[in-house]
Parts: sequence; structure tokens; C-alpha cells
Amino acid sequence: MSTAAKELNGWDVEKIRNDFPVLRQTVNGKPLVYLDSAASAQVPQVVIDRGSRYLQDEHSNIHRGVHYLSQKATTAFEGAREKVKRFINARESRECIFVRGCTEGINLVTHGYGRKFVGAGDEIIISAMEHHANIVPWQMLAEEKGAKIRVLPMDERGELQLDQLEVLITSRTKLICVMHVSNSLGTINPIKEICHIAHKQGVPVLVDGAQGAAHLSIDVQDLDCDFYIISGHKMYAPTGSGVVYGKAEWLEEMNPFMGGGDMIKTVTFEKSTYAALPNKFEAGTPAISSQIGLGAAIDYLNSIDREKAERYEAELLAYATAKLSAIEGVRLIGTAREKASVISFTVEGVHPHDIGTIFDNEGIAIRAGHHCAQPVMQFFKIPATARASFAFYNTKEEVDKLADAVQKVIEVFA
Ligand code: PMP
Repeated sequence: MSTAAKELNGWDVEKIRNDFPVLRQTVNGKPLVYLDSAASAQVPQVVIDRGSRYLQDEHSNIHRGVHYLSQKATTAFEGAREKVKRFINARESRECIFVRGCTEGINLVTHGYGRKFVGAGDEIIISAMEHHANIVPWQMLAEEKGAKIRVLPMDERGELQLDQLEVLITSRTKLICVMHVSNSLGTINPIKEICHIAHKQGVPVLVDGAQGAAHLSIDVQDLDCDFYIISGHKMYAPTGSGVVYGKAEWLEEMNPFMGGGDMIKTVTFEKSTYAALPNKFEAGTPAISSQIGLGAAIDYLNSIDREKAERYEAELLAYATAKLSAIEGVRLIGTAREKASVISFTVEGVHPHDIGTIFDNEGIAIRAGHHCAQPVMQFFKIPATARASFAFYNTKEEVDKLADAVQKVIEVFA
């Protein structure tokens, strides 16, 4: 790799790639080109090592034990919570609830907030570009309660029509649910503005941060969102880790999600009382090693220059957008002015699954399908897209390989 390519925009991508052992392998005899980080980002060696160290030296159940190992595990687990708190700038660590991922996190709010505060005739606003994880739980709640779902529309670029939000909010609106960054379109939504509009009418906002936390610096106090939900595996941590950030005033008022051990203060056969935050929402044994891994992933992210990483990813996206849009027959899906590192596309006359298969032969990992966003596909009148998603460990050379593979697809199907 040339020095120019290696140090694009002052970002030493070769050094960064060395942190991710999985990137060293070959697939079908070709060097792996991993362009599926929006599904799951790869895990750096320091995170792998931290998980191994826990399993080797510290493994024990947390909170309940007085013995040495249990205390060590508890300290590491609660230490990870402190790291999350600082990473998203929450006011207090008790506002950071550990969950197994974004889907579980949204369901926690559906049960904890929705069951308590949403009634017959009430309304929940979701955006037109939501992932199924931020649609289906609200539909299930609406069905149970006789509530209604209202949809904030988007335009052809994949930008939300913010002027419609004020119109949609009524005295019955109980919550607005919106993603920070779209996994299918790449759009970065103006969360601060949405929260501002919502709060003027006294409506809280839940942000699906599955894609946001991986690419953007998150300051929940500055955004002023009421809930921000994170999946660890999208931000270089193991699967099974995740966070619900919620303003303490909401979390205090909400019902618990699951019942069981660790979330109680007292139990009799007649009645149980619940533990204080955050334990009230953490029933049963959590994914201890994964959450400790999330803490290590945050340490890793803090150890790199995140501003440079963001700029580098933006440059990769711009480069890929220019390359793919120059190819005849390629249609880009999602052309918002503010985008993060996702590029969704179709190739005329070729099903995205065939694109995915041909790419795999070239050692290129992309995702093909509806990306758990069927309403987005319906909006653009397509069954699916091929999606390449970038992280700060990808290179311009990999984007070149992506474009070459698209050309190959066109030749095969010509
Ligand atoms: N929301 C968005 C925007 C996502 O991209 C995903 C994962 N594809 C989810 C929610 C669900 O996250 P998880 O599968 O980790 O629960």
C-alpha cells in the first residue's frame, strides 16, 4: 500500500487494520474486504483480550457474591457502565441500563414506558425510515392498547420531512421514535432539532442509536433525547452487549421490563418491590463478559482520534459514492445531504442477492436484502438493495475493489 493511500487525511489505516485480526484472512483465495460493519463491526484485539481475561481470571456472577472473584467481576462490569456514561455524556451511570442489544433495549422502553403511559387513542410517532426493531414493538403495543402509529414521512433523498413533525404531534402523542443514522440509507437525522420540536409540545423522544454510536460522537445531554439505545456489536464490542440510556426521571417512573433476580428489593408471595436504578431493569444474569467487552471497545475508541476517524469515513463514503454513481445501471438508494458510512444501491436487472453472491466469490462481504427496513424498500419501490457499509478500518483500495466487482456483476448479467 502506498504511503499516500495509507495515510489518507492523516489517518494511518494500516496501523488501525493491525488492531483487527479478522481482517488478515483470505476468503475464496482473496483478501477479505469487509464492507458489512453496519450489520456487525469487527472487534479489535484489545477487546478480544479483555473478554478472554475475564473468562480466564475473573469469571463469576456479579452483584450477589461476597467472594473475591464475584467482586472482581462486579467491579469490571460496573466499570464498563462508568465508561458508557462518560462515552455518551449521561448525567449519571444509573441512567445507563445494560441490555443485550438495541432490539431488547427498544422493547424495554415499549414495556416500561409504553405499557404505563400509552393508552387507548394515544399516538406514537415513528419515522418512515425506521428499522423493524423500532416499528414492530410499537405496533404490538398499539394493538394491545388501542393506540395509533403515525409516520413522519421522508423524501426521495431519504431525508425526514421535519416540517411535518409539528403537524403530526397532537395532544395524544406519547412518544416520538426515530433512528439517529439509517442502516438502510445512511441518513443522519437531525436529532437535536427533533428533540427541540418534540419537547416544545412536552413529548419525549426515543433515539435508536444502533448505527449512530458507531460513527458519531454522542452527547445525550446535548441532544437532549429522553432515550438513546445502543448495540455494542455495531461499535466494535461483542454481541450481547448494549445500553438503554434514559433520563432518570423517566426510568424512575417506568415499569420494570423483565421480572426476576437482581431487579427486586423485596419479594413475598403477595408482592414484590423493585430495586433502584439501574438494577430495576436488569433482571437475571446479564451478558457480563460482553458488557465488559463493550467497556474495552469504548477504551479503544477513546484511544484513537475519533474526529479524524469520522472525517476518514466521510471521505471513504464520498469516494465510494462518486465511483458507484459513475457506473451506468447503478442506482444509489439514499442520497441525503447528511450521511454516515452506508451506501445502498441496486444494479439494473440484477437481484441484490446475486450481487452479494458474486461479491462473496471476490472475498467482498456486503449485505443484500431489505435490511430489516421493508417500509423503506416499499417507499423506493424495490424489493431489496445491496449495501456496503464502511468503518475506519476500510481502505480506498477496498472501495476500488467494490466498484470493480460491480462492473463484474454487470458483465456477468449483460
Ligand atoms: N436499529 C438499527 C438502525 C439497526 O441497524 C439494527 C441492527 N441492524 C437494530 C436496530 C437492531 O439491533 P440489534 O440487532 O443489535 O438488536
